[in-house]
Amino acid sequence: MTNAEPAGANGLGQIFDVLIVGGGLGGLALAVGLGHLPGLNWLLVEAADELRTATGTLIGVGANGLHALECLDPRIVENVKKYAQVGTRAEGHVRPADPAGEPEVNAMPLSQQLHTIRWGATQRVLAELVEPSRVRCGHKCRGYTVDEAAGHVAVHFKDKPDIKARLVIGADGVRSVIRSSMCPSDPGPRFLGYMNWNAVRHVPGSSSAAGSDVIKTIRDSKTDFSVMVYIINAGCDYQFWQVRMTSASPCFTNGGSGGGGVPGSKARVMQRLQQLGWQDIMQEVEATDESAIYERAMWDRLPLPAWSAAGGHVVLLGDAAHAMYSGPGQGARTAFEDAHQMFLAIKQHWPNPAAIAAQYEEARVHRASIIQNYAAGMANLAGLSSDINAFWQQLHPDTPDADGRTERFREFQLWLNSYPEKMHGLPGSKYTSPEALKAFVEHCAAATAQHSASQQHMPSSKISCA
Ligand SMILES: Cc1cc2nc3c(=O)[nH]c(=O)nc-3n(C[C@H](O)[C@H](O)[C@H](O)COP(=O)(O)OP(=O)(O)OC[C@H]3O[C@@H](n4cnc5c(N)ncnc54)[C@H](O)[C@@H]3O)c2cc1C
Repeated sequence: MTNAEPAGANGLGQIFDVLIVGGGLGGLALAVGLGHLPGLNWLLVEAADELRTATGTLIGVGANGLHALECLDPRIVENVKKYAQVGTRAEGHVRPADPAGEPEVNAMPLSQQLHTIRWGATQRVLAELVEPSRVRCGHKCRGYTVDEAAGHVAVHFKDKPDIKARLVIGADGVRSVIRSSMCPSDPGPRFLGYMNWNAVRHVPGSSSAAGSDVIKTIRDSKTDFSVMVYIINAGCDYQFWQVRMTSASPCFTNGGSGGGGVPGSKARVMQRLQQLGWQDIMQEVEATDESAIYERAMWDRLPLPAWSAAGGHVVLLGDAAHAMYSGPGQGARTAFEDAHQMFLAIKQHWPNPAAIAAQYEEARVHRASIIQNYAAGMANLAGLSSDINAFWQQLHPDTPDADGRTERFREFQLWLNSYPEKMHGLPGSKYTSPEALKAFVEHCAAATAQHSASQQHMPSSKISCA
């Protein structure tokens, strides 16, 4: 490790040990960890003018995410728990076409507590534990150039001088520029067949009200739903709602590009809910100011066989490596696992980027691709989702489809939460044994290639508000 001091005002000519590109959940979690490695000269750069806190989103942090965060710094978990609500039960409602009819309700206790917390509150918890002089906002990365002989990478920015580092970590989200530079032939984010509207709003008393520990989903059909709603308490008297509608292609309100407070977005959601006669959800949306509603198309990224380039000098982390369908709620949790494993690899192998990348990829690539593919199976991808489901049925033909889905969900939660001890599989289990997971990933790679013609990808630069 080299200089203990953080970068000077401009950093010109200076070569950092580590440069994190992207100050979202994954990049900040890693930054908190790096703060415990004295002597390492590192910096985090973020495109936005300040670290983002407004997304209208909530994340659910389960045991795997909490474990990873605890290892990075126990204060993160202490503070997350201060702001989060504890979810203990899940309720899935399927409403009949006749709004006067009785919904089918599938209620079950969660195998482990889920801490549900506003995305912005999580960002703040992490940012508070990072030394401000280590963070430079207003740095929109444009790509990088490797100087192999010198053993460092120059990262390029819009209207800002290059910054050089020996290890560059691309934590720049689903539209990652670092990933585009690393894999020029990568097809870009894949549209998952959903448009999504969500908000968090302050509802005094909501976090202590009866049912505030319930993770509630409401759909208009058990399998081929066109609308799905999430209602979840986000802690500190904040209530989260999300309305997700299937859509053949990205379809933003008024031909725009989504984001916060899109004029007409609230009316669009209300109109669909009105058609369904879901008065209770309409009340929730009606009570939300349009400026607090976020409109997004849903994207993921195809699993990559490797997350590093240039002899380990450039590595991906979080959504940049493995953006996934949010159904199983693992996007942030896996980003926290990445941050934890990257921290361990740097701690053990610095200043050897090749060894860092090797250890990190060994720990992460296989596990993340399983989770990505599992999530894709829950999404709305033409051909692929049913193909993935068929794989599971072939594996256990004696288990009826509906039972299999529920069993798998439970088993996957157990496996995910067994991080890090059993991170490559639960020996002897039905769906998540190391052998079953290996076969699953191999099947999904072939199925993804087979169905690629029916999947819509978009160059990262053209996507708004992912
Ligand atoms: C509606 C919704 C619900 C979700 N629910 C859950 C859940 O329940 N549980 C869960 O675990 N996850 C959930 N997620 C996913 C989770 O939010 C993401 O997986 C997580 O934020 C990924 O972290 P990240 O650091 O990789 O990316 P991000 O948090 O997206 O951060 C990327 C950062 O990079 C910056 N950046 C982008 N481009 C550049 C550039 N060119 N130069 C410099 N900086 C750049 C961005 O401004 C941003 O700050 C949900 C996501 C959505 C949209």
